[in-house]
Amino acid sequence: MPATPPLALAELLMRDIAQSENGIAVLDPDNIFLYHNHAFAHMFGLLDDPMIGRSNDDMMTLLYTKRSGPKIQSGSLQEWLDLVHSRQRSERFRSFEVDLVDGRWLLLSEQVHEGGEVVMLCTDITRQKMIELDLKQAHADLERLAMTDELTGIPNRRNFLQRLDAELVRAQRYRHPVCLAMLDLDHFKRVNDTYGHPAGDEVLRHFTRFLVQHLRNVDIVGRLGGEEFAVILPETKLDDALFVLRRVIALLDQETVEAVAPGFQYGFSGGVAMAVDTGTECKWLLASADQALYQAKTGGRRQIRAWQDEPANPDTPA
Ligand code: GH3
Ligand code: MG
Ligand code: MG
Repeated sequence: MPATPPLALAELLMRDIAQSENGIAVLDPDNIFLYHNHAFAHMFGLLDDPMIGRSNDDMMTLLYTKRSGPKIQSGSLQEWLDLVHSRQRSERFRSFEVDLVDGRWLLLSEQVHEGGEVVMLCTDITRQKMIELDLKQAHADLERLAMTDELTGIPNRRNFLQRLDAELVRAQRYRHPVCLAMLDLDHFKRVNDTYGHPAGDEVLRHFTRFLVQHLRNVDIVGRLGGEEFAVILPETKLDDALFVLRRVIALLDQETVEAVAPGFQYGFSGGVAMAVDTGTECKWLLASADQALYQAKTGGRRQIRAWQDEPANPDTPA
């Protein structure tokens, strides 16, 4: 094949650059536009304001004034210009994404040449970016769904146990107290049997709201499954946890859930355990609170019991 003469090749490249759908621009060492193609002007909405012979700062000032071009976090034009100056020519080659005021996304690359000229290449990546953002959102939604109990909107078992692990590590590191309470609705089966499953669901949602309302913001409420809930009470000693939960029982005694039936009331039992030393493990704390809950149930329900001795053996079912 005969070699293409260099001149013809240069001409071909120039034609290609001029007609490209990618924006291409060349800045001289003083940041004056030596060249930009049609696509570059089009991408930045500058078809009526060709930039050749003008500076990059001129272009940014124009975009800033027209409130078009890149979305700007900086408080003022000068701040934005300073930021751009600090990054420009900081590397021989760099590429970065820019989101525009009108919702488009561009991928910009900047190649610095030995003589100080800069060649900029801009590609419209809006479609890819939308797919990427959708995927990110879907991933976040899935993660939230996987961590949240669907009926009540609070942390599910998996999420709650992870948080318990984290709280226990934190409490032990700082040698602070932390309590775990296991709560179980009393005779809940009767609610379903008497008023139906949807009414039972309403009670579960009511209980969730009630707990969240009457506990501190730092307390973590989760649904372990069925009508069993658990609460992590950080920075709380056993006596204080007992006091708080007994108050919740008393307050719930004054509540009715009219959505279930006129004058409908329900109650719950609870078991509380405190991390007793730096070696307390999550599963020991769970087993201890569960055993205390079992005592509250066998002791007559509608009450809170504490696990006060050594942690229970987690392998012994309550
Ligand atoms: P106890 O006082 O000993 O805890 O008795 P209980 O009736 O509350 O306990 P039991 O374990 O016998 O029954 C629990 C009931 O909870 C049975 C089950 O159908 C019901 N349940 C579990 N999950 C749900 C749910 O998501 N919605 C509804 N409505 N009911 C549920
Ligand atoms: Mg129950
Ligand atoms: Mg139960």
